Amino acid sequence: MLNEPVDHVHGVGGKLKETLNELGILTIEDLLFYFPFRYDSYEVKPVTELMHDEKATIEGKVVGEPSLAFYGKRKSKLTITLQVEQFAIKAVMFNRAFAKKQIQAGDLITVTGKWDQRRLQITVSNYKKGSADDQEPIQPVYSLKENMTMTKMRKTIKSALDEYGAHVPEILPEKMRSAYKLPTRHEALRQMHYPESRVLLKHARRRFTYEEFLLFQLKMQLLRKLKKEATEGNAQNYDNERLTGFVDSFPFTLTNAQKKSLAEILKDMKSPYRMNRLLQGDVGSGKTAVAAISIFASVTAGKQAALMVPTEILAEQHYESLQELFGDRLNTALLTGSIKGKKRKEILEAVEEGTIDVLIGTHALIQDEVIFNDLGLVIVDEQHRFGVNQRRTLRQKGLHPDVLFMTATPIPRTLAITAFGDMDVSVINEMPAGRKPVETHWAKADMMDRVLGFIQKEIDAGHQAYVICPLIEESDKLDIQNAVDLYHQLQTYYEPAAKVGLMHGRLHSDEKEQVMKEFAANEIQILVSTTVVEVGVNVPNATVMVIYDAERFGLSQLHQLRGRVGRSDKQSYCILLADPKGEIGKERMRIMTETTDGFELSEQDLKLRGPGDFFGKKQSGMPEFKVGDMVHDYRALETARQDAADALESGQFEQDAEWKEIRDTLYNDAGIREELLD
Ligand code: ADP
Ligand code: MG
Repeated sequence: MLNEPVDHVHGVGGKLKETLNELGILTIEDLLFYFPFRYDSYEVKPVTELMHDEKATIEGKVVGEPSLAFYGKRKSKLTITLQVEQFAIKAVMFNRAFAKKQIQAGDLITVTGKWDQRRLQITVSNYKKGSADDQEPIQPVYSLKENMTMTKMRKTIKSALDEYGAHVPEILPEKMRSAYKLPTRHEALRQMHYPESRVLLKHARRRFTYEEFLLFQLKMQLLRKLKKEATEGNAQNYDNERLTGFVDSFPFTLTNAQKKSLAEILKDMKSPYRMNRLLQGDVGSGKTAVAAISIFASVTAGKQAALMVPTEILAEQHYESLQELFGDRLNTALLTGSIKGKKRKEILEAVEEGTIDVLIGTHALIQDEVIFNDLGLVIVDEQHRFGVNQRRTLRQKGLHPDVLFMTATPIPRTLAITAFGDMDVSVINEMPAGRKPVETHWAKADMMDRVLGFIQKEIDAGHQAYVICPLIEESDKLDIQNAVDLYHQLQTYYEPAAKVGLMHGRLHSDEKEQVMKEFAANEIQILVSTTVVEVGVNVPNATVMVIYDAERFGLSQLHQLRGRVGRSDKQSYCILLADPKGEIGKERMRIMTETTDGFELSEQDLKLRGPGDFFGKKQSGMPEFKVGDMVHDYRALETARQDAADALESGQFEQDAEWKEIRDTLYNDAGIREELLD
């Protein structure tokens, strides 16, 4: 009944139907759930509680005759003096000359508009004769099309509510409704459109927020469950003894957080299901070690592994550190765009034959020419830098391989459970012992002299420094020029006592490699670079990170850059050179100097930027909620997540009559079916 066309509602037809359709309202249900985007309030408050420049409603007695003044072309200003409590307040109406006839001295009127605290004046947008009590205290405001009035929309929704509201089924199980004291769906719907009070409106919103979150969480978790059941994975029977031997050969012992994440990964790999797991850990928390052990496990199970990373530098670095860990126990190869000709051919052949155990590389890995013999484990580092299709292409190079995504961008919990609701998540929330937090300072750009002196001191102590140049686009010639200019300036200052190097995206890969080698070997002491060193680069002897124009970077990026230092037991420093103009920029600098905890930082970043911006514009994959707000209502989100998990795990979701409505909705959801075909 509710999914009948909207023109079944009394009074809807012809033009109105068309307009509603244009707003996306096709069915009666669509209309009922077309929620106001805000509410106009006509609640009268004492004058002393009104807020300057904000919307207010006041009720008062007209003193004297309203005065009308004309100016410009057909413009007018009507000024009315109102007696409100002990105050004489001016109510000003523009271009409503006609109102003069309707308002007389001694009348009681109610006006709504913008309040000017200093002049005790209100600029009226709405007025009504009589007391405020005679009107609906809270009015819904809907978004409209041009050829439609608010009155019409309100009336149309009202008739839909009167006619069909009672047919709106309850879908939440009684248990939750009573536990959280949520109004029924029908009641909440009425309050959303015609709130009787702020309190009732709040409860209605609370109900729909929870409902939305619960449905979303159920959908994600159901999807995760169905995917696991529907797709065969491979049960990788790794050799535990060899694996233990490998881990014992490390020059350090794993942190507890590394051990826990590793256990979760190995369990997934051994299970017959396909692993779909995200490994989160702050820069330097030791994800690479965990990845290496997972790779080793896969190879002892007779499979191959692939590690895909976003940049060549990172690929080379991973290749080197993994080779160091594996020694000659595994056959490791590197494949990037700059490996060409005969060498490339040999690698490709060996990968296909299966003589190469681990292939590490960039996007080069997903080219058609790359064919694995038996790919068992796929690892994607900095996974948010790859598109969905790229990740899928790599996965499809094996037969149901286990997949591990890694990210050094600590993702706020609220986002993690929404954006990655269909993945399992492991978190490394502990740093290897002995690390000292990076001391972070915010300096104004004109303090560069002191910064140069500071770098000098660290170099005299045998340490190294990064100087990061402002640039956003790696391809931007101007920005490259900035780095080159700075490089020359620093050369003049430090050379020949210390050597300055230059690194940017436009360099040839041999040149990049050469520069990185020299920096790693401490032949270069100061590296001027663009953000290409942002991810993964590991030179523990570097103790200073200077970031120019730091206000141009987001918190997560600054944190990534800062993560290049503090990678040993030496005290490290990060200096942010910035003159931010706005409050948000200043706030960012303050936060950076106050915390080095990536998770804390990401929560703050989320608050400053909002969820849409968090992952950048390119791919956000953030769900849109109609009523709920992931950031504000994160507790409801957390509750819904737990409730969804409980319902699915206990089997109540599948069996109980209470869940039938939601169950039917979800199993008919087109999105779920499509995902399952993937
Ligand atoms: P991530 O990939 O998370 O940024 P890495 O795996 O590159 O971190 O580790 C950073 C540094 O810490 C490396 O030099 C690595 O050898 C070292 N490391 C990793 N795990 C430990 C540990 N448990 N104890 C001490 N050092 C560790
Ligand atoms: Mg790493």
